[in-house]
Amino acid sequence: MKKVFIYFIAFLFICFILPALLTKFEMSANIETSSNETQENEAKTSEEEYVYNKYGTIKLLHADTNEVEEVELDTYLCNVVSAEMPVDFEKEALKAQAIVARTYTIYKINNKKHDNADICDDSTCCQAWISKEDRLARWADNKEEKWAKIEECVNETKGKIITYNNQPINAFFHSNSGGKTELPVDVWGGGTNMPYLQVVETSGEDGYTQYNSEVELTNEEVLEKLKTKYSDIQIDFNNEEDIKILEYTTSGRVKTIKFGNHEISGTEARSIFGLRATNFQITKTEGKVKFTVVGYGHGVGMSQTGADSMAKNGSTAEDIIKHFYVGVEIKEVNSI
Ligand SMILES: [Zn+2]
Repeated sequence: MKKVFIYFIAFLFICFILPALLTKFEMSANIETSSNETQENEAKTSEEEYVYNKYGTIKLLHADTNEVEEVELDTYLCNVVSAEMPVDFEKEALKAQAIVARTYTIYKINNKKHDNADICDDSTCCQAWISKEDRLARWADNKEEKWAKIEECVNETKGKIITYNNQPINAFFHSNSGGKTELPVDVWGGGTNMPYLQVVETSGEDGYTQYNSEVELTNEEVLEKLKTKYSDIQIDFNNEEDIKILEYTTSGRVKTIKFGNHEISGTEARSIFGLRATNFQITKTEGKVKFTVVGYGHGVGMSQTGADSMAKNGSTAEDIIKHFYVGVEIKEVNSI
């Protein structure tokens, strides 16, 4: 009888208790595996995401509507990079632009221009910006691929900014330097406290459409345009000495130019006559004045076409940045 009872217990054990134990063991093994997976996922996420301690969200002012929008820094940078640089430029040039734009933004957060916002979307005031929707609408083809390229360039430079003496630099940039960048003092009359902005030479900028341009005006148009600023302007167009470049800047751009009874700066001439840059020559022909211009933009800091030209020759984003901003370092924003 005792034997039968033992067999019965053994039968119960094999049929019910053992499978239950095994299942429990398996379940706990599964739990362990899934918790390992969770840990792995967490590690992956923290590797991919950069936590911008105090710069995670920025206040962006939309200049046309006067609305202030709170946006994540790197999302904002995708909108900036895609507005500021052609997407078909080399990836290392776009990455340099992403680091420059991030630096410029953080500099602006710390040196506010606007009362209720960190930065605005007007390129003449702060930094250009375009919504993803508008950007995609303006690209003719491979829209998602192009956007993915921009996102990659921002993501691959996460957290990186340019510093000088451990401070974010005022990262000026422009379209085409014409081969040589310009000192800020020769454009705005200031900037001597920014020793990282020097005259540097870059080859290959003549290969871009932004390099050469011309503006031809009749003598009357020249007078008309100058009158908007100088109502008493008088020019003797038959006198060789009456329109003359008087002085050049360190980089070879026009510093001062004479128009009849007035001497004006190259920067002012650029604005009055709508020239792409202050690197120009003047030729006078029958009843006309021709400005032959080299480069595009103020010429200070990084040249975008120069960056692309360097990238085509194998330079990295870091090489490009260290070429255009002298004596700088690239650091993680949280480390400063
Ligand atoms: Zn602004």
